Amino acid sequence: MRRNMKFADVIVDIATEKVDRTFTYRVPEEFEGCIGVGSRVRVPFGFREKEGYVLSLKEDPEYDPGKIKEIIAPLEPYPVLLPSLIEAAREIREQTKCPLCEALRLMIPPQMRAGKVKIKTEKCFQLSFPVEEMETWLEKVKRSPRKKLILTALGDGAPHPVSEIRPLAGNWREAVQALENCGAIRSFEREVLRRPVAYGQAPAVQDPPLTPEQQEAVDEMVPALAGRRTDKVFLLHGVTGSGKTEVFIRLVRECVSSGKQALILVPEIVLTPQMISWFSSRFGDDMAVLHSRLTPGERFDEWRRIRSGQARIVIGARSAVFAPAGKLGLVIVDEEHESTYISDHYPQYDARAVARSRILREGGILVLASATPSIYSYAMARRGDYVLVEMPSRVFGRPLPEILLADMREELRRGNRGIFSKILEEELTKCVRDGNQAMLFINRRGYAPFISCRKCGEAIKCGRCDVSMTYHATDRKLHCHYCGSVREMPETCPSCSSPYIKAVGIGTQKVEEEVRRRFPGIGVLRMDVDTTSGRNAHAEILSRFRSGEAQILIGTQMIAKGLDFPSVTLVGAVLADMSLNLPDYRSPERTYQLIVQVAGRAGRGNEKGRVVIQTYKPEHYAIAQAVRQDYRAFFNEEFRRRKQDLYPPFTQMDRILVEGKEASRVFERAQRHRDEILKYLKGREEEKLVLFVRTDAAPIQRIQDRWRAHTVLKMVDSPKCAPLIAFIAQMLREEADADAADGMTAAFEINPLSLA
Ligand code: ADP
Ligand code: ZN
Ligand code: ZN
Repeated sequence: MRRNMKFADVIVDIATEKVDRTFTYRVPEEFEGCIGVGSRVRVPFGFREKEGYVLSLKEDPEYDPGKIKEIIAPLEPYPVLLPSLIEAAREIREQTKCPLCEALRLMIPPQMRAGKVKIKTEKCFQLSFPVEEMETWLEKVKRSPRKKLILTALGDGAPHPVSEIRPLAGNWREAVQALENCGAIRSFEREVLRRPVAYGQAPAVQDPPLTPEQQEAVDEMVPALAGRRTDKVFLLHGVTGSGKTEVFIRLVRECVSSGKQALILVPEIVLTPQMISWFSSRFGDDMAVLHSRLTPGERFDEWRRIRSGQARIVIGARSAVFAPAGKLGLVIVDEEHESTYISDHYPQYDARAVARSRILREGGILVLASATPSIYSYAMARRGDYVLVEMPSRVFGRPLPEILLADMREELRRGNRGIFSKILEEELTKCVRDGNQAMLFINRRGYAPFISCRKCGEAIKCGRCDVSMTYHATDRKLHCHYCGSVREMPETCPSCSSPYIKAVGIGTQKVEEEVRRRFPGIGVLRMDVDTTSGRNAHAEILSRFRSGEAQILIGTQMIAKGLDFPSVTLVGAVLADMSLNLPDYRSPERTYQLIVQVAGRAGRGNEKGRVVIQTYKPEHYAIAQAVRQDYRAFFNEEFRRRKQDLYPPFTQMDRILVEGKEASRVFERAQRHRDEILKYLKGREEEKLVLFVRTDAAPIQRIQDRWRAHTVLKMVDSPKCAPLIAFIAQMLREEADADAADGMTAAFEINPLSLA
């Protein structure tokens, strides 16, 4: 005889307390039908009521049933979390050592948790009689023109929302009431889904025939997608403009036609409108979008459309990897090399890793696509863990853009102190004259990144952070890009009172000023954090540029990625080696990617593109290989160096970052971390695998008035180091309360994106 599952193991959703285990509750009989694994429930906890997630059900509890409390109620009438997403949360806990409830929170729209979003409804009206009887009814109400209007409006027999009835007549309320009273119509509340985008409005487009190279790529992946082959992860390495999107579209078509759901991840919200318009012109209304700029209501509704299977295609940024697609068949990660796929806040998951484990568990394939794959992914492909699919040429034999180097040291020697080299100036003039479009890339916002004193050499620093302040021409003030504080531009040097202070360096605003000065009357747009704070600001700037309203678009890395503007013939990187100067082993990789990616924005239409890269370090291998656009040569060089210098993927680099108000205590704490780790390691197997444990002030010593010190560990990348990682996570958890009381935080960062 089958017995009912009367007890549930529940993870209680508590932010402050570190209760990382399940508690058993009794499932009340009345809810037995709707509480399952993955349900969110309200439970008594201590003296309070809390929300929680049901992780498993069981017939018998481990201890005295009499002491077990009851679930108060489910929060939704169905299990919200898919089993596969509970698994994903478990993996994130494993990797980041966060408590499970923190990982589970990633799996649902944030506002859903506190019950802050509601299902939206609207009032609707519908005829109560068969459409054929319309004549008779119109006859009955012939003396009221208002009623006739309303009945006619409802004449197709379908429900119509109040928003359509309201404009029909001034006194519509009364008329509707009367019609309802005499049984002609009825009203009811209908659920409406808030949609963030007008999908299905892009004009429908037929799939174009594929180029032979695209066809080959599709043919290589489809058998696995259809389950005829066992390959799971593909690395699609296609040069910029090779037509990867069209390949995505075919894969998605194959996937949805077999009744499965497909997930397409893009690295930036900026890129979603472009991807959406490509997909909606082919698939119409069949999709949902998930990213952080949606309103809570929109996000909740899109989420529900995916959960119910109504939306089969999901497009979104990083967090969309947690889309509740129950029938997942395909995940595409576009521009897979982008660091935005790693979450920048706790818990720091990597969307690519989550996608991979979802696919391995749920079936289907993962396609990682890029013109400049990450060293990690390419190494995996070379090792045979991923299947490498290559598209080495642009569509229709379009040439890759020609890349010209401008050596800025040479320019200085020739007396050019401006921000444009002679060659970039000439190319811009030609481009503008020919009526084409240009993009200028500079990875720094504001006008000038330093204000420095010519007498004492000091740069003006933020009062709360250990960073120099950036001058903004828009408000003529100094801004701190770390804490956001703003202050007046001083007239004299704050350290020596000399009046000789000046702005040094280049930011987007300065480039804009320079362009406007040299090309008066030419439309110019600027895209950076400062111009894109509005909800649709990104999309607006891009569509203005697309419409031809401006000939020159200036921007930070926001414009470097994936954008497709066929009439852009010139791309200029105003200062390409900025990313080389970061104290990070990944800076050559990032520099290479950035140059090839910005270059790839040029010449995507019928005209050949030209690219000017301005640099002070033309001989650096990352820049030299990028100019040749020879990914394999760059990879080989970079791989060799990492192996030689023992950097990831050969090793793993983690750090514990301590932040707090008092410098000495912060430092003390960081040193203690090192001591504890060394003590732990003594005589253990892991000792040989750890290359160093170093405590130091962080490169940025202070942010927002908080001092920073870190302990950096480098170890051989080996599962044998897992106990050490677990030890550190546990050590930090145990100290967390004491730290909090002291106003300190200690964060454990595994392979962090920045060691700053
Ligand atoms: P990638 O993402 O590889 O840089 P895109 O997918 O943006 O390249 O494609 C580059 C351009 O070529 C786009 O404008 C796209 O519409 C066009 N294109 C790609 N494939 C085809 C095709 N088979 N037929 C016609 N146009 C295509
Ligand atoms: Zn000075
Ligand atoms: Zn600051």
